[in-house]
Amino acid sequence: MPDFVLPAQINPPSRLLMGPGPINADPRVLRAMASQLIGQYDPAMTGYMNETMALYRQVFETHNRWTLLIDGTSRAGIEAILVSTIRPGDRVLVPVFGRFGHLLGEIARRCRAEVHTIEVPWGEVFTPDRIEEAIKRVKPRLLLTVHGDTSTTLLQPLAELGEICRRHSVLFYTDATASLGGNTLKTDDWGIDAVSAGLQKCLGGPSGSAPITLSPQMEAAIRARKCVEAGIRTQDHQDGDDEMIYSNYFDLGMIMDYWGPERLNHHTEATSMLFAARECARIMLEEGMDNRIARHALHGKAMLAGIQGMGLETFGDLRHKMNNVLGVVIPPGINGEAVRQQLLDDFHIEIGTSFGPLQGKIWRIGTMGYNARKDCVLQTLAALEAVLNRHGLRTVQGEAMQSAWKVYDSVRSVTAPAKG
Ligand SMILES: *Cc1c(COP(=O)(O)O)cnc(C)c1O
Repeated sequence: MPDFVLPAQINPPSRLLMGPGPINADPRVLRAMASQLIGQYDPAMTGYMNETMALYRQVFETHNRWTLLIDGTSRAGIEAILVSTIRPGDRVLVPVFGRFGHLLGEIARRCRAEVHTIEVPWGEVFTPDRIEEAIKRVKPRLLLTVHGDTSTTLLQPLAELGEICRRHSVLFYTDATASLGGNTLKTDDWGIDAVSAGLQKCLGGPSGSAPITLSPQMEAAIRARKCVEAGIRTQDHQDGDDEMIYSNYFDLGMIMDYWGPERLNHHTEATSMLFAARECARIMLEEGMDNRIARHALHGKAMLAGIQGMGLETFGDLRHKMNNVLGVVIPPGINGEAVRQQLLDDFHIEIGTSFGPLQGKIWRIGTMGYNARKDCVLQTLAALEAVLNRHGLRTVQGEAMQSAWKVYDSVRSVTAPAKG
């Protein structure tokens, strides 16, 4: 046996997480997670499950009956929806404007879809016309979109796409992991058939639970698959095995039967994560969705003003920036990673690096969820300015803070989240 030393009890350093996610969880969410477990079919538990469905209908702004949690990170929500709806050979269209569009294409390919992509340069989004033109050409069964792509910090306008999809009989999915709770998303009004999210961005929780919602049309598409039958779940479809949803864990037909009144045993609901997801939604609705989105807009604007005040360039088309993440161009001659390291070492503040074509070119700074607060914005700006000066970049001393303060002065009342 190799030498073994028992590690110390977990005691992570206290950090201020100002990257593109995860961010610090709201302490109320952490307290909810520390609650003792109960049985899977305890009426208290099934009651919490029903409450969670009702809460997320409000969060997604939908009447969809099937609004529930997939156990796993946001990717689990994406995968459950794609695996359960895409049949081998289905044509899907993916407009790609960042890393997460590529992810949707990759998962769809694993479902053996015929994947068609259209692209814009990173830092831009699609016009509805461009998407409609591609729909006419490709004639897809599904349109797979990303709402907010943290890799580029941009927000794809979705409001007009539902109508386009309806006209062409296309099922419309969006990944709203990065945007939900910090940017407007109206599932029903915008005609979106399926949305998936996660807790670790604007929802102010830890990663590990993926709220999703499914329209009646999406439900019908899933139920039409040769799912393993309800009840004893014997599989008696010899022909067309291709039609069977290839994942048991992500079979939404079975997951609906578990969350629905049938309560057919599937997995063991991740109780502590359900407590977290329920509390995230409860806190959001206590604040009010509109207030919450306005809070993200305000602190995002203050961060932007501060960065511009410091004389730094920002990334991408600002008209389509998410409220909750900002891309900051790393100034020439500055080592981006060294700056991030010093922010972490000396201030315990984390900001994000970047991927793909943006690697080494921009930092990504988040103002989301529990950290969409004035104190977090001002601390981050002050620390970043100090570190940049330490690294030899001469900024106009103090301008970052003054510019951010000006944004705050311009609004009279700010709804601040209750401190934990
Ligand atoms: C952050 C993010 C995710 C994260 O997925 P995880 O499985 O929770 O890591 C997914 N999609 C988008 C658009 C994101 O911004």
